[in-house]
Amino acid sequence: MGKFTPKRDKICPKCGSSYLPRTGTANMCYECREVQCNNPECGKMFSVKPHRVGKARYCSIRCQKKHMARKGLLVMMSEEQDQYIINNYENKTAGEIADDLGVNKRAVTYKLEVFTREGRITRTKRVRKDV
Ligand SMILES: [Zn+2]
Ligand SMILES: [Zn+2]
Repeated sequence: MGKFTPKRDKICPKCGSSYLPRTGTANMCYECREVQCNNPECGKMFSVKPHRVGKARYCSIRCQKKHMARKGLLVMMSEEQDQYIINNYENKTAGEIADDLGVNKRAVTYKLEVFTREGRITRTKRVRKDV
């Protein structure tokens, strides 16, 4: 039987400790790739791919949704409500739209961010009409 040759230790570029890579692509030690889930109800430590270190904040989509819902950011809005925001964001404030729709103002602000990111609205062109 041939002798098992362990892979060479690598030095973690982040913390400088040596570690034994489990895969050829692991370029950081396990500790440095551990992230705590941002959802306080979960708080689980999970390991992420090196390129997602500093970006990943939730261990799962479920935790992300749960946490955002808790913060009042994720409100299930109908397509009509979405459309109402799109139609009115130029001449109403987020607070006014929220009142009209009977939802949390932060939810409207959040939706505006999403729509902007998706390119459905262009907030840079936003001009409040003089009354
Ligand atoms: Zn490290
Ligand atoms: Zn979690």
